[in-house]
Amino acid sequence: MNREIETTNGYTPTIGLEVHAELKTATKMFCGCKNAPHDNEVNTHVCPICMAHPGTLPLVNKEAVQKVLDVGTAVGATLAGYTEFDRKNYFYPDIPKGYQISQFAYPLVVGGSLHNVALTRIHLEEDTARSSHEHGEGSIVDYNRAGVPLMELVTEPVIHDAETAASFGRELQLLLRELGVSDANMEKGEMRVEANISVSKDGSLGTKVEVKNLNSFKAVQDAIRFEVKRHIALLEKGEKVVQETRGWDENRSLTFSQRKKESSHDYRYFPDPDIPNFDTVDSGLISVSRQSDISDKIPSKIREKYLNLGLPSKQIEVLIDIPTLRAYFEYAVVQNTSYAKVAANYLTSDVVGLMTSGAVVVFDHVLSDHLAAFAELVGMVADGSVTSRVAKDLLPEVLKGSSAKELVASRGLATSSDAGALGTVVDQVIAANESVVAEYKAGKVASMQFLVGQCMKATKGAGNPAILRSLLEERINK
Ligand SMILES: [Zn+2]
Repeated sequence: MNREIETTNGYTPTIGLEVHAELKTATKMFCGCKNAPHDNEVNTHVCPICMAHPGTLPLVNKEAVQKVLDVGTAVGATLAGYTEFDRKNYFYPDIPKGYQISQFAYPLVVGGSLHNVALTRIHLEEDTARSSHEHGEGSIVDYNRAGVPLMELVTEPVIHDAETAASFGRELQLLLRELGVSDANMEKGEMRVEANISVSKDGSLGTKVEVKNLNSFKAVQDAIRFEVKRHIALLEKGEKVVQETRGWDENRSLTFSQRKKESSHDYRYFPDPDIPNFDTVDSGLISVSRQSDISDKIPSKIREKYLNLGLPSKQIEVLIDIPTLRAYFEYAVVQNTSYAKVAANYLTSDVVGLMTSGAVVVFDHVLSDHLAAFAELVGMVADGSVTSRVAKDLLPEVLKGSSAKELVASRGLATSSDAGALGTVVDQVIAANESVVAEYKAGKVASMQFLVGQCMKATKGAGNPAILRSLLEERINK
């Protein structure tokens, strides 16, 4: 991305992002409770450890550590050898211990880049409980979320416009989903974005404001635009930007002051004495074999691979957005790389159309015979044994796992190139459409398409359209 840095009244905006993502692990970060923060039954996945009863000891969830290291590998970062967990001390009802276990001096991942945005670090911590204040007197708290593994990714302040910030978020969401690290649904709070925003005229960093509660990529974009305008207006009036945390009010499309920003020393970080520091290499958490697995799942690598197969960008983005379609595509291409274009055409137009209309339900986990049935149909189009017309008609059944070969055989839909049989059809169509034939003879070229269409209809789509066309032309021009 070589986007020119846009300035307004000579001010350059600078944005850094902090993204939290709930990790998709079986259990919580430091105990055996089920990781189910969105369970409707509140306060059901709790135990003495995540409720911080005295005398309990946390045990690090290796699956969570592995997932963060996977993200680090995907973004080409440095993975920590030595790492440790720290206590971040603050008092709030959503944090039963009185501190959050996080990582401060020795994060699991340092550096790397994604979507051409340099990353500072990625560390692992525990999520807080969910508190809500909309129930009249007092607040209520659901501790199902307390202790859920949470990844925090911090970018360098190198983004200069709202669009790039939002598209970085989208790319990260894709990556987390691809890697199976997080479902990363923003509306569910599985992925939460905070933006640090400042403006400056001289290339230095201005006073930054942190905006929270950004629950969609649109909110990320709108809030950044709003803040940049607000900062510039203040500075132009000769006033100062106050360093603070602000919230985003979706309905009114504006930010509002929440609190003055704490700095890290306010939290009195110190290494958690209950968790031994450890080495990720010695503990077998970094393995070389994972590197290639991960490489196949990086969205930018998938784009590159599909470009090399000759797919246009629009189709590539559809396949990247809908992993199920990609499963069909990948399976077909493994059978024969020459199937790539035909497969992508059907998947990104016809199948998407069938899904949108509700005619076909494409499940998240597709059965292998469904994948095979689709690949078989694509193969038959590629070798000419069925016409594109027949293939489209058969798609809904094939996507439910029916064999294309069997359907074609039982219904007599194999492409017919038999000039004798097709000649009979052509004669009938000419006889039944004398006026259209006359129009064609008088110079209306489009009439030919109609006649070919009539022949296709008469053959239930199985007639080879090129042969039908040449037979029609031959007979009409005789
Ligand atoms: Zn627990």
